[in-house]
Amino acid sequence: MRILVTNDDGIFADGLWKLVRELKKIGPVVVVAPDREQSAVGTAVTLRQPLRVRKLNGMLPGVETYSVEGTPSDSVILALSKLAKNGIDLVVSGINSGPNLGDDVFISGTVGAALQGHFHGLPALAISIDAAADSPHLEGAAKIAALLAKRIDEGSLPRDVFLNVNVPGLPLEEIKGVSVTRLANQTHGNTVAARERHNGRQPYYWLVRRRLPQETDTKTDIGAIEQGNISITPLQTNLLSRPSTAITHSLCSDLLRELREEKNS
Ligand code: MN
Repeated sequence: MRILVTNDDGIFADGLWKLVRELKKIGPVVVVAPDREQSAVGTAVTLRQPLRVRKLNGMLPGVETYSVEGTPSDSVILALSKLAKNGIDLVVSGINSGPNLGDDVFISGTVGAALQGHFHGLPALAISIDAAADSPHLEGAAKIAALLAKRIDEGSLPRDVFLNVNVPGLPLEEIKGVSVTRLANQTHGNTVAARERHNGRQPYYWLVRRRLPQETDTKTDIGAIEQGNISITPLQTNLLSRPSTAITHSLCSDLLRELREEKNS
């Protein structure tokens, strides 16, 4: 199985290379990743600027490596359409430093890259660790990714989902179990910190995201991680495709008629 590895922490992140070392035991690995930190860029693609790509030699023997002056999604698109000449069977994104839980999946570049693989019809997984970039537990998380990759190779992943995996920042012997979870709701509060500037200049702002108080539902991704479990959340792209008669009626009926009346008034 030919594996594309990418991330959003940038091509020199330790988490990415720990992942590559484990995955190359299963099959040939191509690394295509942003040339800099791209966390929280979500699914962004670059359409109004050229994309510069550099081939990096000697990162890891036998691993073709490209850095992209763009987003994680850009990296996956370039890899699948231009750079990975022999084709790709699986897209793996990570290991992100810091968890991607609940609402995070909508802004996470790590998950965004896996989503792009899924859009291309490939099995894909994002993996994050609830720990800092220099965590001693990255190797354990990388081994988990490799085990999952093997099972995906054996056909264990349905075509209509991709995976968001979160690993507690614990030694493997302290991890309690593996839970298949759903996303927690409303996981963050956003606050804005204003910084005054002197000399009459404009103030500037920092967005600060804070995890909301403890999740009690152990069936969610956050609940699983808080209990010391590995969380595997299957994600789908049909976010809300069920037609709802209530919505159709209260939101949409007579909309066109009213629009025409507006126009004529
Ligand atoms: Mn990141």
